[in-house]
Amino acid sequence: MTNCIFCKIAAKQIPADIVYEDDELLVFKDIHPAAPVHLLVIPKEHVATLSECNGSHAAMLGRMMTLVPQLAAEHGCAVSYDEQGQPGGGYKTLINSGPDGGQEVYHLHLHMYGGPRPWKGQR
Ligand code: ADP
Repeated sequence: MTNCIFCKIAAKQIPADIVYEDDELLVFKDIHPAAPVHLLVIPKEHVATLSECNGSHAAMLGRMMTLVPQLAAEHGCAVSYDEQGQPGGGYKTLINSGPDGGQEVYHLHLHMYGGPRPWKGQR
């Protein structure tokens, strides 16, 4: 899609702080981070919104989601357990869909927010 900012990032036509890339997916730092770690996971293929997804997108959506634990480990916010079994660390994942869902960029993206609390993007 010619006028899509995330397609332009995927095509390397505009710069971004890319932290992961493979044939299908790209991950970069959000330009206005709402948490100490704020990453955006996108498919390179243009898909405007989760509402356009169906069974043909299942593998891609699964790959987006299952990449998150690897990103969390690499960015220091994986969930871990202390000797008493109490959890620590962690992160939030979010997909905004459509105006009522707060979506502003119409190229499917998964937000990953992490880092020590408190941070702005918490709900
Ligand atoms: P919201 O702004 O409500 O979170 P979205 O879910 O559509 O809406 O998120 C779009 C995200 O893309 C925002 O967090 C915004 O900061 C980020 N963003 C916009 N342009 C760029 C860019 N050029 N590089 C990195 N992140 C960007």
